[in-house]
Amino acid sequence: TRTPVNVTVTGAAGQIGYALLFRIASGHLLGADVPVNLRLLEIPQGLKAAEGVAMELDDCAFPLLRDITITDQAATAFDGANVALLVGARPRTAGMERGDLLAANGGIFGPQGKAINDNAADDIKVLVVGNPANTNALIAQRNAPDVPAERFTAMTRLDHNRAVAQLAKKAGVTVDEVKKVTIWGNHSATQYPDVFHAEIGGKNGFEAVGSDQAWLEDFFIPKVAKRGAEIIEVRGASSAASAANAAIDHVHTWVNGTAEGNWTSMGIVSDGSYGVPEGIISSFPVTTKDGKFEIVQGLEISDFSRAKIDASVAELVGERDEVAKLGLI
Ligand code: NDP
Repeated sequence: TRTPVNVTVTGAAGQIGYALLFRIASGHLLGADVPVNLRLLEIPQGLKAAEGVAMELDDCAFPLLRDITITDQAATAFDGANVALLVGARPRTAGMERGDLLAANGGIFGPQGKAINDNAADDIKVLVVGNPANTNALIAQRNAPDVPAERFTAMTRLDHNRAVAQLAKKAGVTVDEVKKVTIWGNHSATQYPDVFHAEIGGKNGFEAVGSDQAWLEDFFIPKVAKRGAEIIEVRGASSAASAANAAIDHVHTWVNGTAEGNWTSMGIVSDGSYGVPEGIISSFPVTTKDGKFEIVQGLEISDFSRAKIDASVAELVGERDEVAKLGLI
């Protein structure tokens, strides 16, 4: 039998946590033959609710779930962690400036980065879901100097999946016929969902949606970028289940690889590719294999795409400069 993989989830008692933990425990994160230990990190006020979720996990009698630890101590939560899903974050409240938000999250992701550095397993893989995800991931990464930088990633897979779904609808095909979609930049309203290199039903992505620049600019791009707000408005609550699903997809693809002829989108530390400044955590098209990923190289970037990518990257550079000024990185 295989050794269990230690999976740490922060903010485990929250909405996303509730949609996430049961799927991790049932084998959707890593594979149907991989046993897991769950390590749940919460703030003290969240511990009791986390206990309740753990009771429900017990009641599922998941064959792959070995052990559950609940703690408010980061060192305990990340002890021997192989995979860490950083979901808990300080939400933006009314009247909060960007600097306040970044500072509050620095107080969470800085210490968590250090705890990962000091306690996690050598093969640790980190996905940051809590917003502002890219910059929270950057803060954690910079506070973990002994961990290879590429192990820290931010989630743009929900944006990617949203784009795939919209394109399939528009082209009248099933989602599995939509390939090579890219989310560039920040997981924010400035993100750029790129259809120009996509393949839909075997055709070029832009042609498959009628080469319709107006649809692209006035419908598709804002639809994907503002989908979270739309869900809140219609559902009356945030998109927790689809966010949890995307987190599962992100880690599953990272560990198990992208399919031949396809790629995915991940927020990763830039190596300078496509003119994105080295060191920031920005979303790129990536292929994955054997637990490693590579940025897809050589894509031709049109002037339209260039301006969109640059705008999102400029926002990330601004966030990086702000957290540097605050002494968080
Ligand atoms: P959720 O579980 O709904 O969301 C958690 C984080 O995920 C937020 O930062 C949220 O960002 C982000 N997020 C990313 N994508 C999405 C998406 N598509 N839809 C919704 N959220 C998204 O928050 P809850 O308030 O229910 O739960 C948070 C939990 O975290 C609480 O139990 C709290 O106690 C805990 N917490 C734990 C910490 C720790 O372990 N140190 C620190 C802080 C909180 P956005 O705000 O932009 O929606």
